[in-house]
Amino acid sequence: MRRRIAVVGAGPAGLTFARVLYRHGHPVTVLERDPSPGARPPGGTLDLHKGLGQLALSKAGLLAEFQALSRPEGQAMRILDTDGTVLRDWRPGPDDRANPEIDRGQLRDLLLGPLDVRWGRGVTEVVPGTPGGTLVRFADGRKETFDLVVGADGAWSRVRPAVSPATPHYTGVTAIETSLDDVDTRHPDLARLVGDGSVAVYGVNRSLVAQRNSGGHVKVYVQTRAPLDWHTNLDPADVEAVRSTLLALFDGWTAPVLDLLRHGTAFIPRPLHVLPVSHTWDHVPGVTLLGDAAHLMPPLGAGANLAMLEGAELAESVAASGDLDEVVRAFEEQMWERAGRWAKITTAGLERLVSQDPTQALALFDEVQPS
Ligand SMILES: Cc1cc2nc3c(=O)[nH]c(=O)nc-3n(C[C@H](O)[C@H](O)[C@H](O)COP(=O)(O)OP(=O)(O)OC[C@H]3O[C@@H](n4cnc5c(N)ncnc54)[C@H](O)[C@@H]3O)c2cc1C
Repeated sequence: MRRRIAVVGAGPAGLTFARVLYRHGHPVTVLERDPSPGARPPGGTLDLHKGLGQLALSKAGLLAEFQALSRPEGQAMRILDTDGTVLRDWRPGPDDRANPEIDRGQLRDLLLGPLDVRWGRGVTEVVPGTPGGTLVRFADGRKETFDLVVGADGAWSRVRPAVSPATPHYTGVTAIETSLDDVDTRHPDLARLVGDGSVAVYGVNRSLVAQRNSGGHVKVYVQTRAPLDWHTNLDPADVEAVRSTLLALFDGWTAPVLDLLRHGTAFIPRPLHVLPVSHTWDHVPGVTLLGDAAHLMPPLGAGANLAMLEGAELAESVAASGDLDEVVRAFEEQMWERAGRWAKITTAGLERLVSQDPTQALALFDEVQPS
């Protein structure tokens, strides 16, 4: 008998899970709240690590297509001090494919391929253990049952309460994102500053990172230690007011770096939340979690990678074995162990990247920079 499997969320976790099951000929229902793939901006660029995100793509049979789309040169990283002195200027070797960058939108389209996603299907609640299986309730009032519901619905998961009472808590750091278009033509000096990859500047309890995406698009991420309500006093609709606040926050920093803020087109505040490090739960038959829904951690380059590998691994196990519950139990143990390690690394990393002592950020870079 065919098992009825649903995944909630068409992000990196859910799509990789669905795509690997598809490759093995297993039907899966993908339920996504967004009304269409292009309903909101897909976000910035992701670096996919060889042993994590790239491994997941090879399990989906998509590694060659990823290599054709991705930007190995995007691994380049320059660090400046607040006066503009270049402290580090690292570039990948010609054959370095350890962590190439890819735009999130390109990755989403690559994973989507032939998948049949049910768009506009926001899930409100998941109830395991009903007579028909695990019940999924939708925002439009409909409901449906499945043998397994996989919650890949991100930080504010509506599936998570079915297995765990944990909710994300604020890290004390708020990010504000802005972006610049067509930099090579419109802002050639800033294009040179950012280079092929990223430029980062670390000050006392604040940082600014600018990352090149494809097509001359640059995303700029400001991070600062601030109370949670700091950003609620900023009205993103009032672009000039937010810009002035940020320019005041970075007062005295070298002019070219501030120009990244002067030319930013819109500002999006993102207070950084995390789940408790090593978040686990008592196994609940018929439901599990993947990715940020299971282990939201600081955005230090691991979250999407873990989400994708978990999706691929769970899909391969489901495709290979008859006992769904045993498969999910074993998967959860493996996920918790690996995600716990990364949660510790990224939590410690955020403390050092946005810290009282900016030399900590440089020291961290030297520890992790590929030789
Ligand atoms: C600024 C920033 C930069 C980052 N850079 C990197 C990086 O370079 N490398 C890296 O590995 N990670 C990075 N991360 C982390 C990464 O973005 C996340 O870990 C990753 O997106 C998690 O994938 P996911 O599929 O678990 O969740 P998400 O990407 O959040 O996807 C969840 C999906 O579920 C849908 N959804 C939500 N609620 C519902 C619902 N109720 N019903 C139906 N659908 C729903 C959402 O619309 C979404 O499509 C970064 C994060 C940030 C904020």
